[in-house]
Amino acid sequence: MSSGSRQGQVEWFERVCRDHGLPVTVQRRTVFEVLLGRRDHPTADQVYDDLKPRLGRVSRTTVYRILDAFVDLGLIARICHPGSSARFDPKVLRHDHLVCMHCEKVIDVEDARLDRIPWPDTRGYGFEIRGHHVHFRGICSDCRKRRKGGESPSKSSQRTAGAPDRRSGSVSSKKRRCNP
Ligand SMILES: [Zn+2]
Ligand SMILES: [Zn+2]
Repeated sequence: MSSGSRQGQVEWFERVCRDHGLPVTVQRRTVFEVLLGRRDHPTADQVYDDLKPRLGRVSRTTVYRILDAFVDLGLIARICHPGSSARFDPKVLRHDHLVCMHCEKVIDVEDARLDRIPWPDTRGYGFEIRGHHVHFRGICSDCRKRRKGGESPSKSSQRTAGAPDRRSGSVSSKKRRCNP
């Protein structure tokens, strides 16, 4: 899947959609292609900004709905880190993330040792663990360079001006939930 060619990934996407009775519309396919083309775990608003020049008329709500449907089908993953907006990841195989505390950049990290982290015994909590995800907080190479240069990194560069705050009360709890 994730390691395959882009063509292979699009074919997989179409197959999963068909199997679940979700028509492969131009909008849905373009959303998926936009995600495949980005390695930076974009926010829903960043996906929307990328789509506008390609699709013209598309509403933000439509994009949010498409992303939610993709998450439900396991086509993409929604990742959340404390204090930042939900981010979308076309890589659904288990992996972990390096999260920059300055610019909120999210970088994939793979280390077989992380796959083998022992899960706690949660029987006493009535909780069934289905998966795990580790995020390491730190400072990315760009921000470290900028710091050395004495320039303060901009935290707002990742946010879209004028975008509705997805963390506000109008957002359903479903949208805020993170996948493992
Ligand atoms: Zn950074
Ligand atoms: Zn990732």
